[in-house]
Amino acid sequence: MAKADKKNKQIVQSDKCIGCGICYSVCPVNAKLMKSDDFDPDTADLAIRIVDGMAIINDEFCIRCGACSKICPVESLTLVELESATA
Ligand code: SF4
Ligand code: SF4
Repeated sequence: MAKADKKNKQIVQSDKCIGCGICYSVCPVNAKLMKSDDFDPDTADLAIRIVDGMAIINDEFCIRCGACSKICPVESLTLVELESATA
């Protein structure tokens, strides 16, 4: 059920990103992983990571909570509703 809801939304990145990393820190998926003693940013299933100065979303792990889009200082991330892609 939750999975179906998740599929109807997506975080869209723009080219405004300045790579500040705030989204990386507030993401609850990332935060949970970072609490792990054996956390390794290179191999962890992060929902969002900073690559070459730009935030990159991993749709596989992102739960579409929207926290990153709300906090981004340059409004680079947008949580969008997808048209019923599966209908
Ligand atoms: S929308 Fe996705 S990437 Fe953004 S904070 Fe939530 S889980 Fe993390
Ligand atoms: S998406 Fe926004 S909060 Fe995330 S690194 Fe880019 S500028 Fe910073």
